[in-house]
Amino acid sequence: MKVLVINAGSSSLKYQLRDVTAGSALYEGVIEKIGQPGGEAADHTQALDLAARRLKAAVGSESEESEESAELPFEAVGHRVVHGGERFGEPVLIDEENLPAIEQLSPLAPLHNPANVLGIRAIAQRWPDLPQVAVFDTAFHRTLPEHAWRYPIPDELYQQHGIRRYGFHGTSHEYVSRRAAEFLDIPLDRFRGIIAHLGNGASVTAIRDGQSVDTSMGFTPLEGLVMGTRSGDVDPSILVFLGQQGYSAEEIDALLNRRSGLLALAGSNDMREVEAATEAGDERAIAALTLSSYRLAKYIGAYHIAVGGAEALVFTAGLGENSPVYRKLVADRLQALGIRLDEQLNLERSKQPRVISTPDSSIPLLVIPTDEERAIAEATAGLIATS
Ligand code: ADP
Repeated sequence: MKVLVINAGSSSLKYQLRDVTAGSALYEGVIEKIGQPGGEAADHTQALDLAARRLKAAVGSESEESEESAELPFEAVGHRVVHGGERFGEPVLIDEENLPAIEQLSPLAPLHNPANVLGIRAIAQRWPDLPQVAVFDTAFHRTLPEHAWRYPIPDELYQQHGIRRYGFHGTSHEYVSRRAAEFLDIPLDRFRGIIAHLGNGASVTAIRDGQSVDTSMGFTPLEGLVMGTRSGDVDPSILVFLGQQGYSAEEIDALLNRRSGLLALAGSNDMREVEAATEAGDERAIAALTLSSYRLAKYIGAYHIAVGGAEALVFTAGLGENSPVYRKLVADRLQALGIRLDEQLNLERSKQPRVISTPDSSIPLLVIPTDEERAIAEATAGLIATS
């Protein structure tokens, strides 16, 4: 089965055509600056038309079909949807009930869910019979126990505004924990581990019996680790203080979401640049990596307790998969847990799941490449096969 995976943002549309049986990507692309000057598309419908034309040109069958053929080179569409709220704990087939429910969650993810809905509607308009599936970033964390999801604040804030911890990157955490259990030959429903998804956005998840029992992102993706441009955990009184100093809510939002993290500490949110700067002896860059890896190591220590003793620690995503420097900074802080990095294995480059710890390490350190598109395509195909 072939599935088109769509990741619609407010001004961009990423698409990838997947062959689910082969587990491979056949074609991918991105349309940026939607509705903006110099952009290729005025709205999400135009962007989808453009994507479909490119897909057909690239992979459409050359034989009897003409260019105008209505035949699409895929049988279903899987959407990455950021917020599933408390309602969605699994991927769902889009129908007249689910789409408005996703739309209603927009206040919780104002930048993302409206764009996801635009993408879904644009496809429904063009190809009404094409099955569409929504795969939620929050869904995997629906298993968080109350002591992990609730904030210690008045209940009315939860009741009236849905303020609680939701967690994100769920598709990646779920995929990587499944791959890790397979790799270690442990049944998933007995697997206890810690997954560090370290990309531009970063989060760490505690996995117990194959389920998410805690995760570092909360009500929004701002909570938790130091990220490319996000601060992660700060004293909330800082926001109150800034408000009292005359900063607007929008300014505070921009400060913490777009101007903080590695960017604020080291002057760049690209780990490659920060690493190069540390090698050149740049003290700001060294301090930035020290602070960020220290905070991640603290979370790992805490999640070791949350899962009742992890059987593995897994690094994944852009930085987790590709930065031996950062992995070493983190691993060196975990020696109190008996964790030992193999420096040689850590330096090797590979796209395969692998061990980077020594045989006498208390638990294995793994690097497992994530593949959110693959996970979305598989979930989509699985749901369609059973419905
Ligand atoms: P996202 O999907 O959240 O945008 P990615 O998973 O692509 O992010 O990760 C982006 C991060 O990974 C950036 O900080 C980037 O610098 C870092 N990264 C990618 N490749 C390398 C590399 N070879 N060495 C060090 N860091 C890398």
